[in-house]
Amino acid sequence: TLFANAQRLGIKIIAPVLCDIHDFKGPRCHRVLFDAPCSGWGVVGKNSDLRWSKSKKDSLNLAETQGRLLRHAATLVNPGGVLVYSTCTIIRDENDQVVEEFLLERRDFTIDSAAKTFPKELVNERGFVKTYPDFENLDGGFCVRLKKRLLRLAQVESVYVPGFYDAETRKPVIDGVPEKIIARHTLKLQPEYYPSRPIVPLTEITHDRVTVEIMRGCPQRCRFCQASRIYRPVRLRSIDDIKKQVMANLKATGHDEVGLLSLSTSDYPDIDRLTSTLVMALEPKKIALSLPSLRPG
Ligand code: SF4
Repeated sequence: TLFANAQRLGIKIIAPVLCDIHDFKGPRCHRVLFDAPCSGWGVVGKNSDLRWSKSKKDSLNLAETQGRLLRHAATLVNPGGVLVYSTCTIIRDENDQVVEEFLLERRDFTIDSAAKTFPKELVNERGFVKTYPDFENLDGGFCVRLKKRLLRLAQVESVYVPGFYDAETRKPVIDGVPEKIIARHTLKLQPEYYPSRPIVPLTEITHDRVTVEIMRGCPQRCRFCQASRIYRPVRLRSIDDIKKQVMANLKATGHDEVGLLSLSTSDYPDIDRLTSTLVMALEPKKIALSLPSLRPG
């Protein structure tokens, strides 16, 4: 038994509780190992009577029990925690099938592949560990490490985790996540949000220039335009902030062109003064000024 083995090995941190898993009242845990009751076909070499005492139907019945118990074991795992499912059988119905069905239902769990820790001969393409006697004379067995993640993140206001929502109805498919995602906006475009030393690629790129945001959102609200709705409200940067960033970025990068970035640059209310201020600063250095996203008319 677990208790006898722990005593034999001198392990004192195990406190066995004998009960039906459904009646277990302990706290949720960061690590849960669910060693499922199984047909035992992985150790048939040691239990040869299995050939006569077990049938295919037993595996199918067990798969139903394993799935139910695995779902319950999952309720004992903390957000961010780990659930390991293991068996000593090689029957896919009791292993892969149980886990795949569980993952379809519990989208907050993902497979944490065993490829990082087990020899590659034992890990399949899904990240499951499968052992067979033809490798190092091991018993047949199965285990998979499942991580419960993203749930805590999805509970932060304004964070949207697509896997937790039905794509058609947009309703949550798991408990504990908000019905509606509230959009969050930066109300002021502070200078510290922008890099003073942007990365310069080693290759020549299409927009090979210093790019400086001057406005977020667009006041025009054309009916076909998603961006103007997504990036509401309109927020402007001051000419002084823009000029300081332009000069700092040019000094740090050596670019010879500056692009002013926004959804619709010509809708920046003080565009005349902005461009003339920048032209006066850039012209003596022979640096070009580019205004993409201009709205005609
Ligand atoms: S001007 Fe451009 S960015 Fe602004 S709403 Fe119209 S299409 Fe969208």
